[in-house]
Amino acid sequence: MRGRLALWLRAQIELGVLETKSDISTFVLNTVLVATTLATASYLMGAAILAHFGLLPYSLRAAIGFGGSTTIVIAASVTTLLAWLIGTAMHELSLSRAEFERRSRLDALSGLYNRRAFIEALAETDIAGFFVLFDIDRFKAVNDRHGHAVGDAAIVAVAEELRRVFVPGHLVGRFGGEEFAAFIKSSDRSDCYLLVEEARRSVADRRVASGEASLAVTLSAGIANRPAGRSFESVYEGADRALYLAKSFGRDRTVHEDEGEQLLAPSRRAAASGRRR
Ligand code: GH3
Ligand code: MG
Ligand code: MG
Repeated sequence: MRGRLALWLRAQIELGVLETKSDISTFVLNTVLVATTLATASYLMGAAILAHFGLLPYSLRAAIGFGGSTTIVIAASVTTLLAWLIGTAMHELSLSRAEFERRSRLDALSGLYNRRAFIEALAETDIAGFFVLFDIDRFKAVNDRHGHAVGDAAIVAVAEELRRVFVPGHLVGRFGGEEFAAFIKSSDRSDCYLLVEEARRSVADRRVASGEASLAVTLSAGIANRPAGRSFESVYEGADRALYLAKSFGRDRTVHEDEGEQLLAPSRRAAASGRRR
């Protein structure tokens, strides 16, 4: 019985049944109705059995009239108090659970989706789009030169710019360290480039205070196609390879996974002619 009650209470909290104050009132009203009905019915049944065996010390009429109304008043008052206390406690547990879940999905520093929440949200998106990995350029030097606190402020500034550009509808998250990800819900490649370049430009234009002075950081970006059905591992690998090329070819630029061969062709040709010589 106790186990069942505990399961029921947990289910109510998990389902968020008592999320609002009016949910508590409904819970109290229902509980009072059920408890008072059960208490009154039990009392009347008991009185009728006692009367049947001649064990009632007063008339059945008095038992029904006075006893019945007293049972209703006492059962209703006690249940209201208890149901209100339990309902309020469950309401608070529901709220703290919802808040805990919300926080466990967000990155503490930037307030963006964390890696896990981003991947989950992406998995729920079955329309085609583009997956983009952003990485702050030479960020270690920012920390070394300006200190970790300024580095953190730069991460927050980048997150703010990305959130501004990738408005709800698209997804944006911090994948850890100085790496961010976005999913652009459009199958039009020029839409994707417009957004990625706007994000990179606005980050580059954003000043981050460092004592009396200020600094700006740049982003490199790697883009991968994400048609519905392509696995996350494959999409991530494509974007990561493109990001690696963006870094290798000077940073502060965007590379699409399809451009890999094209970008590498001149260096391969040079290597081949070097071997021939
Ligand atoms: P690259 O252009 O090749 O990306 O160079 P990088 O210096 O940005 O890359 P690297 O991986 O060498 O350094 C990343 C640095 O990011 C090292 C680490 O101390 C710093 N970092 C990671 N997470 C945080 C953070 O939360 N706050 C701060 N301030 N720094 C961080
Ligand atoms: Mg970096
Ligand atoms: Mg990095």
